Amino acid sequence: MTPTRSSVRLSDGRELIYFDESPGSSRSSYPDTRQLPPPPPASQLRYDPLTDEWIAVAAHRNTRTFLPPSDACPLCPTSERFASEIPAPDYDVVVFENQFPSFSDRIVPDEITQVTGMVPVRPGYGRCEVVCFTSDHDSAFGSLPVSRVRTVIDALADRTAELSAVPEVAQVFPFENRGVEIGVTLHHPHGQIYAYPTVTPKTAAYLRAARRHFDKTGRNLYADVLAAEQEAKVRVVTSNDHWTAYVPAAARWPFEVHVAPHRQVPDLPALTDAERDAFAPLYLDILRRFDGLFGKPMPYISAWHQAVTGAGRELGYLHLQLFSIRRAADKLKFLAGSESAMGAFVNDIVPEAAAQRLRDI
Ligand SMILES: [Zn+2]
Repeated sequence: MTPTRSSVRLSDGRELIYFDESPGSSRSSYPDTRQLPPPPPASQLRYDPLTDEWIAVAAHRNTRTFLPPSDACPLCPTSERFASEIPAPDYDVVVFENQFPSFSDRIVPDEITQVTGMVPVRPGYGRCEVVCFTSDHDSAFGSLPVSRVRTVIDALADRTAELSAVPEVAQVFPFENRGVEIGVTLHHPHGQIYAYPTVTPKTAAYLRAARRHFDKTGRNLYADVLAAEQEAKVRVVTSNDHWTAYVPAAARWPFEVHVAPHRQVPDLPALTDAERDAFAPLYLDILRRFDGLFGKPMPYISAWHQAVTGAGRELGYLHLQLFSIRRAADKLKFLAGSESAMGAFVNDIVPEAAAQRLRDI
């Protein structure tokens, strides 16, 4: 069932949207009683001519909340003791604009200036949103019921559709960082959505490869990669009627899984009800296997790759990339010289062995 959607404004003008599983709830009647300062100034994007990439510079993010005590969690519902970011006393899934955004839509989007003659600067126009998966501070995505995962997917689809319609937005990226090892600054189970004004470097590289493949074969690159993995089977971890989860043959990370729909769709809004329903149990199963690898919560990054909104959209193929930096019970993989300076990954775990270990759990 489609969640009930209701929207309110926080005291500094930011938008907050409730996605409720029970119809007729009226969480939007709770006002934000805090006196918040106006949102911080926007970031800027500086062009790196050496790599043809845009770098966001957001100095104000240095002041953001860092691992607050649980009775002052900004993502818990508001209680008598603490007024949080969420004015209602409870919620199912809630999405709101980040108080410390890397990108903002409160600025004029097209004011180009220069740092030097070689380095143009543009405003960091876009939007950054926070997605709370549950009001339970001590829960985790992997502990959510199937019905809640479905609500989260519906919320992400709603946000993708709305943000993609903004003319300046080039790409919408929903993701979750989990674990202090990844750099998480709030323990409360949550994800984020970035609406970028430019195509990200990773997506730009995919689009170049996908265009080349299409010109040569007339086929979609990601669809061919998925079909090849399904045929090879050795790296497939699990699958159902609508989705396959596999370790990529050239995985970069010690434990990395792609979860892909069997049909080429550009983004989450394009998924059918049946596909959304089928995703939830399969993804929960993969998260359970991740946590089972070393018998403790696995730090991970879970990243939805969606089609760009402009040129090359037809080359997109929605998929989720889930990966961890943990390579052993007491060892993390850090991005050191080769990865950080050269972008050249060295993976210590053979992808076929990683798939076998995940299947065995
Ligand atoms: Zn909390």
